[in-house]
Amino acid sequence: MEITVQASVYSAERTAKNATIHLESAQAVCDLPLTLTQNCIAYPPFINSHDHLVGNWDPRAGDNRPYSNTDIWVEEMKYSASYLERNKVWINDGTFRLLEGTAYRLYMLGCYKNLFSGCVAVQDHGPNQKPAYYDSFPIHVIRDYRQCHSISLGNWWGGKSAREEWESTNGEMPFITHLAEGTDERSKSCYPRFKELGLAQPNTLIVHGIAMTPEDIADCAANGVSICVCPESNIFLIGKTIDMDACRKYGVNVVIGTDSTMSGSTNILTEIRRFREIFPHIPANEIFAMITANAQRALLLDDSYGTLQESNKHLLLMAAHTSDPYENLFHSTMHDVELLVYDGTPIYGNAAMLNHFHHDPADYFFFAHDGHKRFVKGHPEKISAEIDAALGYHKHLPYIPY
Ligand SMILES: [Zn+2]
Repeated sequence: MEITVQASVYSAERTAKNATIHLESAQAVCDLPLTLTQNCIAYPPFINSHDHLVGNWDPRAGDNRPYSNTDIWVEEMKYSASYLERNKVWINDGTFRLLEGTAYRLYMLGCYKNLFSGCVAVQDHGPNQKPAYYDSFPIHVIRDYRQCHSISLGNWWGGKSAREEWESTNGEMPFITHLAEGTDERSKSCYPRFKELGLAQPNTLIVHGIAMTPEDIADCAANGVSICVCPESNIFLIGKTIDMDACRKYGVNVVIGTDSTMSGSTNILTEIRRFREIFPHIPANEIFAMITANAQRALLLDDSYGTLQESNKHLLLMAAHTSDPYENLFHSTMHDVELLVYDGTPIYGNAAMLNHFHHDPADYFFFAHDGHKRFVKGHPEKISAEIDAALGYHKHLPYIPY
């Protein structure tokens, strides 16, 4: 299927005006080429490198901010009003067996948070789940990874020791852990301990790294370690993020994550705007790389992710607000997604777009926003209704567009 757009962003280095994109889709109605030269910009869909899908409740928790480290917050937030409200929808019994009980209400809406903001891949940080969990999602929730909660608290939520988890990657999947999420001595000691355990490896993704020194960051760069920054969550909880200038100076592979809405921002689009506010000197295309190609590399995803190529099975079309296609992302919201395609299947966008694909309307939920008819794959509205029924009132979650 050929789609002609006002501009196409192939990568952080390459764009083209009036470009024609080839989309691989078994559902495409091929005698209907799409011409969207007036109002659409094509992008590779985004990758959210850090989230906790079951944690996407609202409002945020953190009455005693700023914290000197988030180990304090992890305990304290369990008594927050937000967490207690979430308990009416799903109780975390500490086993993290998410296929049981009503956890699906949270992890599925958490997945939709990512989908509605243009992501087709998300790293759901937590203990590895059974295959049926990953099979249930309309986008790629990364299943091939090993993890530790953090070096300071260990794998309290499930999993082996950090070293054993890393060894079981065989270097073929990412090893992911929160690290140095604070400003105190406890946080500062994390990277040296991590290094001593032999975990600074090319398939390692460190999340946060707030207390890391420029020397620690240089060491990450030298060892090929990737670092995920969650700017909103970091500023909200700690009042500080990682030393981004050191990351750039030493050439670390930096990616961006939203964290859950219990501490982070609404979605990946609000997250990159927050990143821009905190680091106004970093160019827009460099930030774009952090939610596309850099993330593909950090998470060891196949090369269908992170860039647009000759032919594509994942595609994002966004409404154009400005002529610079990188800058356009900082003016975009979840309502600007004209079309999101994952693995050849249209999963979100303007309902008129669905006319270009063979589809069964029963597979989709249709809703109106601002006078426009929108579609989304699956039936998140049924989960929203279950949540409202469990609470006895309507729950507004800011990442839901219907
Ligand atoms: Zn996290």
